[in-house]
Amino acid sequence: MTMESPPSLTPYVLVIEDEESLATLLQYNLEKEGYRVRVCADGEEALMTIEEKQPDIVMLDWMLPKVSGIEVCRRIRQRTVTRNLPIIMLTARVEESDRIRGLDTGADDYVVKPFSMTELCARLRAVLRRIRPGLAEDRVRAGDIVIDRVAHRVKRGGEEIHLGPTEFRLLDYFMQHPGRVFSREQLLNAVWGSDVYVETRTVDVHIGRLRRALGGDGDPIRTVRSAGYALDV
Ligand code: CA
Repeated sequence: MTMESPPSLTPYVLVIEDEESLATLLQYNLEKEGYRVRVCADGEEALMTIEEKQPDIVMLDWMLPKVSGIEVCRRIRQRTVTRNLPIIMLTARVEESDRIRGLDTGADDYVVKPFSMTELCARLRAVLRRIRPGLAEDRVRAGDIVIDRVAHRVKRGGEEIHLGPTEFRLLDYFMQHPGRVFSREQLLNAVWGSDVYVETRTVDVHIGRLRRALGGDGDPIRTVRSAGYALDV
């Protein structure tokens, strides 16, 4: 039984951008895409924020006050704990030498301003898919259950299943780690978020609803006494 802290369900994106209108636009669009977003307006604040809670991916502007984007990138790569943190550089510079410098410093990808949100989101998904495959797939299958994250639909054995938003997120999380046992606290953090206060009993209520909704051939959710729950498919 593994009990280390599981990754959160929604990827946490740190946007480091001093241009307020662009930062707001990025935050709005990324949240609409289902990401958790935090914005930092300078390099110094960004490095402190990363130390507090490590994001899943960083969108990093090149020209920043206090500590430049390239320096932020360098420091992220120097520290062991953040060495593999994915970075997408946002750059107004069009010169190839600058892009190469950005990639040499350790950025995973770069987007040249002005960019479309569609392009940015596609790059973001591509980088996430490379490093955390379970997070970025649109459609996930486990046993006879198929979950479509884009259409927000679930099927079991070919039959459509109707789930409330919380049950959907619970199932989605289980399906990223089939067979793994999660405590109620872990499920709370992953599905509701660590900054929301919800009683652990709430998890049992939603597990009950999820079970009833899935119905069909056998109960795929296993209750592990005094530990938590797992999805066995
Ligand atoms: Ca800037």
